Parts: sequence; structure tokens; C-alpha cells
Amino acid sequence: MAELFELMGNMHMHTPYSDGEKWHADIAEDAIKAGLDFIIVTDHNIWVDGVEGYYENSNGRVLLLSGEEVHNPRRQPQASHFLAYGAEHELASFAANPQELIDQTLAAGGYGFLAHPHEEPPEPLLGIGDLGWHDWEIDGFTGLEIWNYMSSFANEVKRILRKLPIQSSLLAKLVGLYLTAHPERYLMAPEPRTLALWDELLVQGKRVTAVGNSDAHGTPLSLGPFHRVVFPYEFLFRAVNTHILLTKPLNGKLEHDKKLILEAIGNGRSWVGYDMAHSTKGFRFSGQGINKGFVGDKIQLDAGATLQVLCPTRANIRLIRHGNVVAEIKNETNLTHIPIDEGAYRAECSLLYEGKERGWIYSNPIYLW
Ligand SMILES: [Zn+2]
Ligand SMILES: [Zn+2]
Repeated sequence: MAELFELMGNMHMHTPYSDGEKWHADIAEDAIKAGLDFIIVTDHNIWVDGVEGYYENSNGRVLLLSGEEVHNPRRQPQASHFLAYGAEHELASFAANPQELIDQTLAAGGYGFLAHPHEEPPEPLLGIGDLGWHDWEIDGFTGLEIWNYMSSFANEVKRILRKLPIQSSLLAKLVGLYLTAHPERYLMAPEPRTLALWDELLVQGKRVTAVGNSDAHGTPLSLGPFHRVVFPYEFLFRAVNTHILLTKPLNGKLEHDKKLILEAIGNGRSWVGYDMAHSTKGFRFSGQGINKGFVGDKIQLDAGATLQVLCPTRANIRLIRHGNVVAEIKNETNLTHIPIDEGAYRAECSLLYEGKERGWIYSNPIYLW
């Protein structure tokens, strides 16, 4: 197989153009520190023009691209957030009609993902709502943000609080603050409902691509004497990322490199990795049938077809077809499977981190036909 070029990126974050703290250049510095190759900034309801390009310092460089997180501010609650990449123009005016928003994004040559699709019910004591996707009469979106770090953490906090006999908002906030001190203890995996929805759409024969992101805001949290940034950008850039594979190397020119990166994201040549548990660099999911291929490819099935998952460290590896585990191996770096049926096959890996088995890698499918 031709040489593949792996890039690590994060594609959901905010600046003061909406409700984030840091400006583009400072976020780029944090991304370089965390070792990211690209970031896509997605402010709420504003596509910021004129900020794209390579940001460099003595430690390296990162390619910053501009996307948008669109939602309808008149909707109550202000849920159903949509991530648009590569549309190259403002989309907020379509926010009131989610299908129109999807269609306009795709018509502009972009890709659209449902952001943090499933959230726990609102937690009034903390003032956190349910900002999941609520408008399901839609079709044609590129995929799902299956893992959003901040949303995932908020879901865990809500679940923990529900089990405690707490009535006071101050007490709830103290518990919340306590949990933010060691968020890695509470971050487990994508929401099972989101993975089930992904499988359901794949069963329908749709091509549905997963991404995983930080949703970094860098917001300082104040509670009495405590005042700190609870989830700095750099911390989140070391956590849930999307890794992509390119068949051609970048050449350092914005338009060329942007096109390669966006195509890989849109076509699912990628996986979601929880890099804080262990770097997911070097993961590969490939297949060999009539033709050879890798993650995101369509491969024609024949009698000797094989699928192979390769992990950068030992993990529990599962191969999933349409919601069913068709092959599984524990504490290994390799899984090989001879598929019999057509369909979409995706790989999941988990490993022990902070005393518990955590979701680690969620690969986009290889499509066998
Ligand atoms: Zn959102
Ligand atoms: Zn966001």
C-alpha cells in the first residue's frame, strides 16, 4: 500500500468571537505545545474569515482552519448544534431549519456533523442544559461528533450528581469543582446512545463518519476563593482528538493542505482517539479484498478478504459490523478477521487507564461490498 501520512487534529473550539477565552494565535500556540498538526476553530454562529494559515514558533507549526458551530438561538433550549467544515461562508442564517443548514453546508462543498448529539437531561443545580441534537427529521449530514470531551465530562457530572442527595446549588458546584480537579477519572467513553445511532445509520447503508473533539473554551471558573481555568485548551488538545490519514504529504501551502485535510475528515479516513490514555498515533485499520484499502475505503469482498487492526500498544480490540461484535481480542496489538458478510466494519479499542477500562480508539468504518 502507498505510504500514509498521519495527522492529529482537533476540530471544535471557541474564541472570544463567541464564548471562548483565547484568540486564534494563542490557541495555535497551545495546539503546537500539545503536538497537534491542525485545528479547526468553530465559533458559535460566526464563520471567521482571514485567520486561516500556518501558525509557527520554535517548537513547530500547526495549520489553523476556520469552521463554524451553528445553532438556532431562538430555539428553546438552544440545542441541536451543527459543526460545519470547509463551507467557506457564513451558515448561521440557515440555523432555523436544520435540513436547510445541512444542505447548504454540503452544497458549498463542506462537511457537516451533529455536535455532541446525546446529552443527559438538564442539571438545574449547576445550570447545565441538554444541548444534544433534538431535531431528528434530517438526512444527508456527513457524520456524528461521537466524542466531545466537554460534553462527555458534563454528562458524567450530571450522572454523579443525580446519585447524590444534594439540593443546594452551592453544594452541587463544590462537587462539580471537585470533579474537575481530576477529570480523567470520570471520562469513560463516547455515549453508548451515540455509538448505537452510528451503527443504526450504518445498517441503513449510509456512509456516516465519526469525529472526536475537545469543545475547548478555556473558561475560568470562579467559586468563592477558587479561580482557575478548569479545562485549558492545551489540556484538552491532549485528550480526545481526531487522527486522519493522507495518501499525499502536505506541502505547507494553505489551499493545498486544507483540501487534503478536509477531504480526509469528510471521507472518514480517520479515527477518534483518547490520546490522554495513551497516544493513538500509529493505529491502522486496513483491509484486503479484490482491492487493498484502509479506513474510510470501499473494498470489494472476495473469498480471501481480510481486515486488520493494528494498535500502537496492547488493548482490547473489537471489530463491529452493524452493531454486532464480529471479532474480539484482549490485551493484544493486532486483530485479524476474515469477513464473510458485506457491510460497514468499524474497530473499537479500549484499555486500562486510571484504574478503569476506558474507550480509547473509535475507528471510522471500512465498507465491504
Ligand atoms: Zn455545542
Ligand atoms: Zn462548542
